[in-house]
Amino acid sequence: MTEEAGAGRARQLPVFHCPYCGDEELTPYEGESAAGWRCGACLRAFSVRLIATGVQE
Ligand SMILES: [Zn+2]
Repeated sequence: MTEEAGAGRARQLPVFHCPYCGDEELTPYEGESAAGWRCGACLRAFSVRLIATGVQE
């Protein structure tokens, strides 16, 4: 058993498009509770969280 997507490893996933408006103008954003990305077009800030790996269905 391997612990690949291990706990405590806060790896920033690259995000190329805003999930809300689809714009590509994303800049790193440091929020109060979590770090994420800020969209320059719709001014939303969001984070990306990995919830599983190798899901088959
Ligand atoms: Zn956006």
